[in-house]
Order: sequence, then C-alpha cells, then structure tokens
Amino acid sequence: MRLSEYFLPTLKENPSEAQIASHRLMLRAGMIRQSSAGIYSWLPLGERVLKKISEIVRSEQNIAGAQEMLMPTIQPADIWKESGRYDAYGPELLRIRDRHNRDMLYGPTNEEQITEIIRSCVKSYRDLPKLLYHIQWKFRDEVRPRFGIMRGREFLMKDCYSFDFNYGAARRSYNKMFVAYLRTFARMGLTAIPMRAESGPIGGDMSHEFIIMADTGESQVFCHADCFDYNVLEELVDYQSDLEPLVSRWTDLYAATDEQHDSSEFERSVPPDKRCEARGIEVGHIFYFGTKYSEAMGAFVSGPDGGRVTMEMGSYGIGVSRLVGAIIEANHDDDGIIWPDSVAPFRVGVVNLKPEDHKCNVLGGEVYEKLRTNGIDTLYEDREGRAGVKFANMDLIGLPWQLIIGPRGAAGGRVELKSRKTGQRDELSMEDAIKRVIA
Ligand code: ATP
Ligand code: MG
Repeated sequence: MRLSEYFLPTLKENPSEAQIASHRLMLRAGMIRQSSAGIYSWLPLGERVLKKISEIVRSEQNIAGAQEMLMPTIQPADIWKESGRYDAYGPELLRIRDRHNRDMLYGPTNEEQITEIIRSCVKSYRDLPKLLYHIQWKFRDEVRPRFGIMRGREFLMKDCYSFDFNYGAARRSYNKMFVAYLRTFARMGLTAIPMRAESGPIGGDMSHEFIIMADTGESQVFCHADCFDYNVLEELVDYQSDLEPLVSRWTDLYAATDEQHDSSEFERSVPPDKRCEARGIEVGHIFYFGTKYSEAMGAFVSGPDGGRVTMEMGSYGIGVSRLVGAIIEANHDDDGIIWPDSVAPFRVGVVNLKPEDHKCNVLGGEVYEKLRTNGIDTLYEDREGRAGVKFANMDLIGLPWQLIIGPRGAAGGRVELKSRKTGQRDELSMEDAIKRVIA
C-alpha cells in the first residue's frame, strides 16, 4: 500500500479524551474513530489488525475441533424469555421493537440462540459432542464505556459453545478450549494467565478468565510466578488425547483475580519470591454451566437406553476487539505501538526519505514491488516531506520493520533496516534487507 493513496488519518497531538496508552495510540495512529460513546468505526489500519487477530482465533478454534458458523446480531426476545434472562439481564441489554411490535434485542451473547438451534437439530447422544463458534459483533449498553475499544458498547467477540452428553465429556470440551486459549494468546505474543473465576453450578475449577498483565488493567490479580515461564507453543498438542495433564500444569499453580483471591491459600501455596501481584486485562473467559440453559429451554437428547438426557453446556468467549487494545497496552513505548509480528497490520514500512530524488524513487519502487510480490504486507512511505516526520509516523504505527531509503545509500543500492522493537539499524544491500524481512 502506498501512503500517498492510503487512508491513514494520524494525529500529531494526544487526544484529550484518551486516558490510557492504547486508546491514545489507536486514535493517533488512525486506527479507529469514535462514532458515539463506546461505538467505533475501524479505519483501514485498525481493521487490518482486527482481521489478523480474528484469523489467529479462528485457526486455533478450528485446530481444537470447533466449527465456525455465523449467528445474527439481532435476536428474538422470545428465546430470552424462555431462559429467563430477558428480565434478569437489566439495562445492559439493548431492547428493540420491530415494525410488527415484536420484541427483539441486539445480542450481548448467544447462549439462547445456539441452544435454540441445537435443541431442534440434535436428537441423539450419538450426535454429541458439538463445539460451535462464531465471531460476531455484540452490544452491551455498558454504564461506563471507557478506554476506547477496551470497554466498548459494540465489540467483536468470538463465542464458542459446547454441547455434551455428560460431565466427563463436558470437561473434555472445556479442556480443549483451555488449551486452545493458551495457544491463541501465545501466538499473539501475549502471556495470558488463566485465573479461576466465579465457579460454575457444581463448583470446582470449571471457569477461568484469561488475563494479560498491564498496569492499566481493570483486574487485580495474584499468581504464582511460574505461570509466566511456560511456553505452550513448544508443546505438541493432540486434541484427541487426554488434555488433563496439560491443563492441570496450569490449574495447579495459584492464580486468582481479586474477587476469588484467598490470601491464606496464596501464602500456603508459594514461596514468597514466587508470589506475584499485578494488574491485568481480561481477554477471554471460559465457563462450564451444566444444564442451566438446556434445562430452561428444553434441550435434550435421547440416551443409550432411550431415556431423556439434558445436554451439558459451556461457553467460551474471546474479546477480539478488546485484544487490539490489550496487545498495545503490552507492547508500546513513548514513541508509539510495537506490533508483535503475528498481528502487525503491515510487516514492513518502506520509508523513502527523498522520493523526489530519481535514484531514491527508482530504488523505493523496486523494493516495494519485490516485497509485495513476495507476499509481504508492505506500507510504502512515498510522500514528500521531512525525514523526522516520516520516522515519527512509522514509530507511531509500530510496524515490526522499517526499510529506509535515502539519497546517500540509494546510489549504491544500499538501504537501512530498522527493527522497531530493538531499535537496531543495519546498513545492507537491498537484496539482503528484503531477505531479512521475509525470513
Ligand atoms: P468484563 O468483566 O470485562 O465486563 P465480562 O465478564 O462481562 O467482561 P464475558 O461475558 O465473559 O465478559 O465476555 C467474553 C469476553 O468479551 C471478555 O473476556 C472480554 O474480553 C470481552 N468483553 C466483554 N465485555 C466487553 C466490552 N464491553 N468491550 C469489549 N470487550 C468486552
Ligand atoms: Mg468475565
């Protein structure tokens, strides 16, 4: 993409409404624009990141055996009346009436919708288990939308639902999602700690929030330091096998948010130097709730002996749009964003310091085409202007690599390659620079 053509409305000044780094940087980098309180348009640069994150989430859901579908944003109120949540949910639920006076709502989550589908289509225990997910916009009329897209009213969520025949099978589904979440966040360059959350209907440890550490996080967390040391991506995961040992490696370590924290248990479980206390951002939540919805909505199958068995359910959410902000909170410096490779909107920014110079213009065009034809997402700074402004802009939008072309090197086909993360600059031939970016 050529910057002379790209829609990237960056801001020089810090917007006064932004209280935290990610909100400030997303506005300044031209990623989002507020439409009304807690509701945002995603501009091209932001949309690219949202898509990259969705792709990682999707790929790990698929690997774990979940199947993608797409449910509507607008749901009939009737199914929410069946589950009892139409009254229970309160003012966060956006209620709508259509032209025929039918009660509708903008979904804040989809348990009712998926249960309605499964109860009419799945009749036998032989058709279970089922793990189904979608990535869809949600609406919650939050009292205090804040921190930009981190606590919005409209937000993008991945929500997966499991349907099983008994507790043991439901636990297998839960474990699959547990492991899939560890892998998903690790692929985004994040350490997400699974924290015990408010426990499900039969107690135990079948509800976890996944929290990434950031000083601006809304949750206070307490955990064992070893939670940070383990790299799940180094492990070969077979989702058909028993995942209990892998899951318990995590759940055996103490980790809890302030709501669940038990200081005496914390003190008993870890030497003092292993006890961490920090703030974090909730990016995912997995939850087993047994027959809460299936019971209320009549979702059952026939069992092996022909008797009626109410399905066991779980739900598994990831805040896809919140992750954009959370990743920035965990990856930025005073100059701007530092994107992890896997979610960067472009892999490299080609900075032409003097496009009006013939040699720079030719070399810049050549580098840009070579990268593009090699399938590398490339943003080309091809506009005239001051070098300082171009560098500041590139640091602000935080692409992993900057490939700098100036009149001095251009004559000899030399360029400079800068890593945004380390700040290291190397002078290289054009070919070597391209090779390094592709590697
Ligand atoms: P929170 O405690 O932050 O309000 P929640 O417990 O209400 O979240 P869930 O119902 O578990 O959220 O939703 C699953 C995921 O969706 C959360 O882990 C979070 O990442 C994301 N999410 C929830 N509410 C919002 C919001 N208002 N804006 C952006 N993302 C959200
Ligand atoms: Mg939650």
